[in-house]
Amino acid sequence: MIMSIPINEIPLEGLDLTLREESFDLEMEGVVANARAPIDLDLHLKRTGLNALARGCVSTRLSLICSRCLRVFSLNVKEDFQVLYQRKGEVSEGEHELLAGELDVEFLERDEIDIGGLIRENILLGLPLKPLCREDCQGLCPRCGQNWNEASCDCAPEVGDPRLQVLKRLL
Ligand SMILES: [Zn+2]
Ligand SMILES: [Zn+2]
Repeated sequence: MIMSIPINEIPLEGLDLTLREESFDLEMEGVVANARAPIDLDLHLKRTGLNALARGCVSTRLSLICSRCLRVFSLNVKEDFQVLYQRKGEVSEGEHELLAGELDVEFLERDEIDIGGLIRENILLGLPLKPLCREDCQGLCPRCGQNWNEASCDCAPEVGDPRLQVLKRLL
């Protein structure tokens, strides 16, 4: 896999790349594994003055842990990106216009684009903050741990605030 692309090697007419990475280590908290699903990257690179503009899409299928029932489930992740790779702090006139749009700016330490970092960051952006195996996941019983998606349990319901009990009677 190409892990980095030197900006100087981007041709003036731009560079189109389609990559499929079979075993990419995401090393992300909450991501159990990427379930051996490949990561696909569509990338268009263009030089803009001294800098470079990356546009494209990253997609894969991940195994995540449901935040309610703690089950592992898979989720398709697809994230479009537009990143300006900026070096030496110089931004040209045309780039100022680009910056007015929806664009992320990444400052370069070396004059090359880190493709692995681009993939990792965009998958992270595509992840839900609270992953749910399904929209209406019932979660686990806090007392016996029964998965309420599969069966109910005999635990007594939590005793609520007595004022709420009054309210319930009124309803
Ligand atoms: Zn769940
Ligand atoms: Zn229970």
